[in-house]
Amino acid sequence: MSLLDFPYGGHCRCGALRIEISAPPVLTAACHCRGCQRMSASAFSLTAMVPAKAFRVVEGEPVKGGMHGPTLDHYFCANCKSWVFTRIVGFDVFVNVRPTMFDDPKWSEPFIETMARDKLPWVTVPAKHSYEGFPTLEDLPRLMDAFSAQRGVSEA
Ligand SMILES: [Zn+2]
Ligand SMILES: [Zn+2]
Repeated sequence: MSLLDFPYGGHCRCGALRIEISAPPVLTAACHCRGCQRMSASAFSLTAMVPAKAFRVVEGEPVKGGMHGPTLDHYFCANCKSWVFTRIVGFDVFVNVRPTMFDDPKWSEPFIETMARDKLPWVTVPAKHSYEGFPTLEDLPRLMDAFSAQRGVSEA
């Protein structure tokens, strides 16, 4: 994917909340935690970690939902209540966008999986790296390097 393909758009179920990103995700993930199972009404949530400065809301007013802090702020469409993105308090260089919101959900394949200890017994995801909990901040640069290396190959 070239930079000419950006900005790249997405929206919630009803279309009232529109987002765009101006750079590719640095990492993709599936989270199997019980919170994500409940909030996504599914087996796991999907995340595309995007540099915060490359993310913006272009239409609509996102509202907080989910846990309303203190460590995470989950943002939803006020009308259809789709969970569109998450900001992690104290880790504001990235925004976790739900990749199924993108017009073409090309970044939905998870490179890592987190909270595998809560994974439902029938679930298999093609993640290259599996964590029983979450990767540490020290793990992230290595994971991002590996992710961008494989992205270069798959999109060449
Ligand atoms: Zn909506
Ligand atoms: Zn989770």
